[in-house]
Amino acid sequence: MAREYPVEPYRIKAVEPIPVTTRAQRTQALGRAGYNTCLLRADEVTIDLFTDSGTNAMSDRQWAAMMVGDEAYCGSSSFYRLEDTVARYYGYPELIPTHQGRAAENILAQCLIRPGHHIPGNMYFPSTRVHLERNGGIFHDVIIDEAHQPDADVPFKGNVDPDKLHKVIAEVGADNIPLFWIHATVNMAGGQPISLGNLAEVREIADHHGIPVILDAARAVENAWFIKCREPGQADRTVADILRNICDLTDGATMSAKKDSFANIGGWLGVRDPSLAEAARGLVVVYEGMHTYGGMAGRDMEAIATGIEESVREENISARVGQVEYLGEKLLDAGVPVVRPIGGHAVFLDAGAILPNIPRDQFPAQTLIAAIYQVAGVRGVERGAVSAGRDAVTGENHYPELELVRLAIPRRTYTQSHLDAVAAGVIDLYNERHHITGGLRFVHEPPTMRFFQARFEPVNGALL
Ligand SMILES: *Cc1c(COP(=O)(O)O)cnc(C)c1O
Repeated sequence: MAREYPVEPYRIKAVEPIPVTTRAQRTQALGRAGYNTCLLRADEVTIDLFTDSGTNAMSDRQWAAMMVGDEAYCGSSSFYRLEDTVARYYGYPELIPTHQGRAAENILAQCLIRPGHHIPGNMYFPSTRVHLERNGGIFHDVIIDEAHQPDADVPFKGNVDPDKLHKVIAEVGADNIPLFWIHATVNMAGGQPISLGNLAEVREIADHHGIPVILDAARAVENAWFIKCREPGQADRTVADILRNICDLTDGATMSAKKDSFANIGGWLGVRDPSLAEAARGLVVVYEGMHTYGGMAGRDMEAIATGIEESVREENISARVGQVEYLGEKLLDAGVPVVRPIGGHAVFLDAGAILPNIPRDQFPAQTLIAAIYQVAGVRGVERGAVSAGRDAVTGENHYPELELVRLAIPRRTYTQSHLDAVAAGVIDLYNERHHITGGLRFVHEPPTMRFFQARFEPVNGALL
């Protein structure tokens, strides 16, 4: 590999031992967990790539900031620090703190969405979709077609297709669209970015019809980095400047601080409209806590404020995205089918292409991720038919276009040598893949959100 990747811009001050297991122990653990990586205990996992959410390593500055958290019930100074920091980096003057991103979604959806409303977006995120549907809204996916194609190697696979957006507006009427919900980056498409040019186009359409644009900002810093690297004319700007530009094109944002901001918990809703902010404050008291802590401790707000400042620093964001690319390129070099281009927070393996002999009703992605754990002690997550669930009317399995395994990289948590071990394990399994002659079948299938609690068994008695 000729490419060079950024060195980790930190050194290690505290270490956390990770479990080292044998293949025999993992085979046993997998059986106990019903071949579902969600049901493995963390102490059975050597390298945990289940999610990048809340699994980040905080910096010494963040830990130090936690010690000065102001735990006042009303008017905590830590709240005002967070409010200032969000206003400075994201540009939203009104801040409603929440315990996680989904809580901000809950409050925003209750404020804006009514039965019969339609909400266009660049692919859905599960919690966003649930909140808009619970308030009677109908989601419309207006992302470009390439987002659904694993090897369409285009730089901004998270872009909105303006024709699809115009079509939805023409069909349902602008009066029935309370907002556009725009993700940067798009998690479900593989951590793929939206371009500034495309977002400006969305803004123009929104202005023409008087519709607000809400940003899902969980990974907007990663998106800003891709804009700097890939969008013509943006290379000389700072990531902070591009982040601000993204936010300036929107009317508000829901944020999970467990992503870009290096925090273990927390979130916020940021808006410009004071009357929307007042409505949201009325609800945050009901669901979260007072509007100056919103379900967080003062120390959590301090950790997030410091995390935001660190997140836009070039050396941090380049190393973060660089680590993900490092793992992805290593797998591509070995011929392992991976979604391209490599996204901002995770590498997605194309399970359909890796195990073409496993029929879809034996769940190739679930089979692959169970086998990767067995061989390598690495935990990822299924993103395919098991996650997609069954059709509410026919009871048949949904078979989404993509049958993927996601390996998400927590920020600052693992070193390059951990990623070498992950790559070696996945490549070993890839070379052994013809030994996997059958997939999995359900032994227990919960009626909703089945992927969390489902249990399986190998159709052939053993996976490998
Ligand atoms: C994680 C996430 C959320 C939800 O945030 P939580 O903090 O997990 O509640 C919303 N949108 C995106 C894109 C996310 O990745």
